[in-house]
Amino acid sequence: MAELFYDDDADLSIIQSKKVAVVGYGSQGHAHSLNLRDSGVDVTVGLREGSASRAKAENQGLKVASVADAVRDADVVVILAPDQVQRIVYREEIEPNLKDGAALVFGHGFNIRFGYIKPAPGLDVVMVAPKGPGHLVRREYVDGRGVPVIVAVEQDASGAAWPLALSYAKAIGGLRAAGIKTTFTEETETDLFGEQAVLCGGVSQLVQYGFETLTEAGYQPEVAYFEVLHELKLIVDLIFEGGITKQRWSVSDTAEYGDYVSGPRVITPDVKANMGAVLADIQSGAFAERFINDQDAGAPEFKELREKGQNHPIEPVGRELRKLFAWVKPSDSDYVEGSA
Ligand code: NAD
Ligand code: MG
Ligand code: MG
Ligand code: MG
Ligand code: MG
Repeated sequence: MAELFYDDDADLSIIQSKKVAVVGYGSQGHAHSLNLRDSGVDVTVGLREGSASRAKAENQGLKVASVADAVRDADVVVILAPDQVQRIVYREEIEPNLKDGAALVFGHGFNIRFGYIKPAPGLDVVMVAPKGPGHLVRREYVDGRGVPVIVAVEQDASGAAWPLALSYAKAIGGLRAAGIKTTFTEETETDLFGEQAVLCGGVSQLVQYGFETLTEAGYQPEVAYFEVLHELKLIVDLIFEGGITKQRWSVSDTAEYGDYVSGPRVITPDVKANMGAVLADIQSGAFAERFINDQDAGAPEFKELREKGQNHPIEPVGRELRKLFAWVKPSDSDYVEGSA
């Protein structure tokens, strides 16, 4: 059984006694900064010159500085810039300005696990990774709850890295739900695998194939959209609440029987073997290298694949249909339909 932590296992006063710099004000950065501030922590947001996020952070009453200035003053530096730029920001703006004995906090283990950032041995290096998008991390905190976090310590130079990590996790609201003890390696490899094989890659491809199969067979795209995409949310909500068993309890016996006999015809043992190959590329660093090399070249492959995805025929059908759903409330993010 995994080791779990709750609010009572953490001492909030540890992080309240530190100066914290949060580098990046995106999905996670805004949520961590605001939750820390509301937990009584002294926070400065570190941003690039001319960052579009500056006004947003200042409008929330947060202190904003250049990354270098925020880091110079900080006991704890939280690195929440995009994974592909972290090593550059670290090398150029964070490392040269770090206080001796400072602590680094990551929201994902990518740069440590694959060696893109190699912190000096005198630093504490910890991870507090919420298992949910940043906008939910903020919303749950405001509502008095929290998104579960996983917590790890990679370097414990001070001997006090664990209490610091747990104090931080408590301050962002994570321990109101639960903290799970992990390692940078386990978090990084399982996070990449989950998003590639199941949550993002697997689901996107499954939905697109389902839509293509129905429309190529002559069914109306609008009806196909409802059956293979729209209803997915309702099914996932049931799985989230009570596992696959609750989902099967809620659907008709017809649907449940179809699940048993057709699921394994669609998702065959080859798919599991393919998942194993994806995991092997994650573990070997081959995926990380491909991603970072493409990013360093200006992301040509990434941009081409993004455009191809946006042009899939299911997308315009969904855009038109969603205009009719006044009852589908958008989540409170900055996403604007048709802009990504
Ligand atoms: P994001 O893309 O939403 O935001 C990153 C922010 O970094 C930008 O808004 C910008 O303010 C800043 N930034 C960009 N380039 C910069 C630079 N050169 N110097 C300084 N700041 C710069 O990022 P995110 O999705 O919040 O991801 C941040 C970290 O959190 C990553 O390690 C990611 O893996 C992890 N994480 C994200 C989520 C999520 O919900 N998105 C969930 C768990 C973990
Ligand atoms: Mg994840
Ligand atoms: Mg991830
Ligand atoms: Mg149906
Ligand atoms: Mg049933």
